[in-house]
Amino acid sequence: MWYCSLNEALRRSYGTKVYKLALSCVNTCPNRDGTVGDRGCIFCTGAGEFAESGPVSEQLLRAKARLADKITAETRYVAYFQSFTNTYASIETLRRAFFAAIEPEDVVALSIATRPDCLGAEVLSLLSEVNRRKPVWVEMGLQTTNPATARYIRRGCDLAAFDAAIERLRSIGITVILHQIIGLPGETAEDIFATADYIAHAGVQGVKFHLLYVAEGTDLAEEYRQGRVRILEPEEYFSLLSGCIRRMPPEMVIHRLTGDGAKRNLLAPLWSGNKKWVLNGIRRYFTEHDVVQGSLYQR
Ligand code: SF4
Repeated sequence: MWYCSLNEALRRSYGTKVYKLALSCVNTCPNRDGTVGDRGCIFCTGAGEFAESGPVSEQLLRAKARLADKITAETRYVAYFQSFTNTYASIETLRRAFFAAIEPEDVVALSIATRPDCLGAEVLSLLSEVNRRKPVWVEMGLQTTNPATARYIRRGCDLAAFDAAIERLRSIGITVILHQIIGLPGETAEDIFATADYIAHAGVQGVKFHLLYVAEGTDLAEEYRQGRVRILEPEEYFSLLSGCIRRMPPEMVIHRLTGDGAKRNLLAPLWSGNKKWVLNGIRRYFTEHDVVQGSLYQR
């Protein structure tokens, strides 16, 4: 079995272990504040589960302190603005946050989670400026290419918006990472693999796969309680994930093999709360089925 993990890719680039430090600089999203929608995506809890808050320089220190027992003088970091939509604020706020995040010498890159409809000319110009100092990655939550599912989850932007955003970001040399959720209500294996094929050919450099999980306090939790959402069993997830990995080009960096919600909010599936068990299960499945990234990719 083989796939191109983020860990491996970063080790190749920087010759050492690189950790992501989860930060925040914006506390809302146009899909929650009424601009595009007022209830957000159906599965969204809003805040990144593990992100720090407060001044960025202090967030960095606290996030590093959490890793104290793992790091050495050689360890390097990716500053990661994870919560909400991290290009949805005044350009001055974003400039302060992004430059503060890349200031420390041991921060080697900046990763920004956002939406395709929050990448206007001013933001792109700022990203381009930051990218000249240190590499910038932009992550966007595609989740699916099926328009009916996109409406159901209330993503609030269409596939054309993703196409346009990817083109604009690539034209200024930004690394792009798309997220896909496997197991969205009503989706067949065909739908899931169609999304994977889109990502494989979208001209992006990375992908994060997430298992659909239900968090307390979301509208998806209501749907689940009313019996309208079927959650995947572990082997089903491992099999669908394998199909997606096989469809990715060999050079695509796989940033995640599964989602990572906070255990305190997790309603279902409870098996997903045991991250170590899930990752071991995925590796076992990949080995038993000789999963090789790119084996189903067609250029
Ligand atoms: S775009 Fe992101 S932050 Fe906004 S509602 Fe959807 S998942 Fe949540």
